[in-house]
Amino acid sequence: MSIPISEVVSRIPRSGIRDFFEIVQSMEDVISLGIGEPDFATPWNIREAAIHSLERGRTGYTSNLGLPRFRRAISTYIKGHLGVSYEPLGEILVSVGVSEALDVALRALLNPGDEVLYHEPCYVSYSPSILLAGGRGRAIPTKWEENFILKASDVEKAIGPRTRVLMLNFPTNPSGATIPPEELERIAAICVKYHLVVLTDEIYSELTYDGASHHTIAAQPGMKERTILLHGLSKAFAMTGWRIGFACGPTEIIEAMMKIHQYAILCAPTMGQEAGIEALERGEPAVAAMRREYEMRRNVIVRSLNDMGLECVKPRGAFYVFPKVSGTGLSGRDFSMRLLQEHKVAVVPGDAFGSNCGDHVRCSYATSLDQIKVAMTRMAEFVDSLRG
Ligand code: PLP
Repeated sequence: MSIPISEVVSRIPRSGIRDFFEIVQSMEDVISLGIGEPDFATPWNIREAAIHSLERGRTGYTSNLGLPRFRRAISTYIKGHLGVSYEPLGEILVSVGVSEALDVALRALLNPGDEVLYHEPCYVSYSPSILLAGGRGRAIPTKWEENFILKASDVEKAIGPRTRVLMLNFPTNPSGATIPPEELERIAAICVKYHLVVLTDEIYSELTYDGASHHTIAAQPGMKERTILLHGLSKAFAMTGWRIGFACGPTEIIEAMMKIHQYAILCAPTMGQEAGIEALERGEPAVAAMRREYEMRRNVIVRSLNDMGLECVKPRGAFYVFPKVSGTGLSGRDFSMRLLQEHKVAVVPGDAFGSNCGDHVRCSYATSLDQIKVAMTRMAEFVDSLRG
């Protein structure tokens, strides 16, 4: 007997990255620039805080919304980092990573058929999460020639009668794009004009380079009341495995999200929340050190890619570069497959991040400088062989 699967789930494709990484895992001596997670272990003071909480026997559930002390730490941190004030008791929900916050926010917002706009290339989960929440996703393509910046005029053009939500992610996975404050201001004005709710994924907001400061749309006039700000500890604090994220927004939406979270998850991991207090209160020096290291690696990888003749925008945030490889005569997918099979370097085909990205590959520099240098030498040999 075959068990019937829900129609929505059947319609969702497997992640384009998954099949590729199954091949990677079956090979030896591969250098992977494919993974979107820090190569650093969580800073020691944060790990120690978690150990200490275990020693004290803090192993039970927390409030559904999250530990009150952690929510106070989040409120103070977000005020300092992004300049927006949230009330710890009603405007913050602690989640199992940004992943869960994203899913719960969409489910709390959407009625069947509601439309959600997002800019492409984008993180692989956006489109499936919208579908799973009963919505319809509409991608707004951003262009390589424009540094993958989302333009307010393109947002306005994409708005239709069922559009309810705009999703933003700057710095962006996979392009590393950041957005100029003037453009953010224009997008905010459009959201106010068309009564859109904004879901802003700020997971890379600490990781900006060249001295650039980060701005969130939630801080724009008229936006706090229509924005759900999502953030978490995975990237800047090197805490992917702890599974801690959070959502900040108006009380009524946080309350609605809490209902879903309460029945589906109950609460985020207690040990992770205890560690999160230490991360947000005393983690900044470690974040700054990791940021310096990422910036240095970014400079090396961008220079190497340009030296081998691959067109590459210098990204100003996150820890990815997204070079265009079509000049070699190969699509991003063929380039990735042959680079892996012939030179044992794993990068992610660009089409995993959107239908307009088949000419690109994503390389992560969340891996050691030594590994990056070897990977770049191998990639240069590969590109030479294609030209030869
Ligand atoms: N949002 C973006 C843009 C990401 O790149 C990722 C992970 O790669 C996530 C969310 C998921 O983060 P978390 O570990 O907090 O669930």
